[in-house]
Amino acid sequence: MSSSAAFENCEDVYAATSSPCPRWCITPHGTHLGEEDWIHASEPLRIADGVLASLCMSVVPDTGAVDGPYVFIGGSEYTVAGATSLASALITLANSGDQDG
Ligand SMILES: [Zn+2]
Repeated sequence: MSSSAAFENCEDVYAATSSPCPRWCITPHGTHLGEEDWIHASEPLRIADGVLASLCMSVVPDTGAVDGPYVFIGGSEYTVAGATSLASALITLANSGDQDG
């Protein structure tokens, strides 16, 4: 299992210049007004009871200014690097229970 596959896709965001939406965005745009409609969000990933993780970023239409992407886990906000570190720590924790002896 590749631990970072989900996050590697984030880098493709910047290559997707032909579309205002990153590839992972599932937000139906045009249903909100103003700033809320600038937010791109991924499909939520359920990682624990009542805890969802999703990738979000905002792009200001007029200026093209990009904020994010960030990974939201429950009520916390992580940078992509921070979420990758967290995921690595979790894998290390899980793997330590999988060692012989
Ligand atoms: Zn979008």
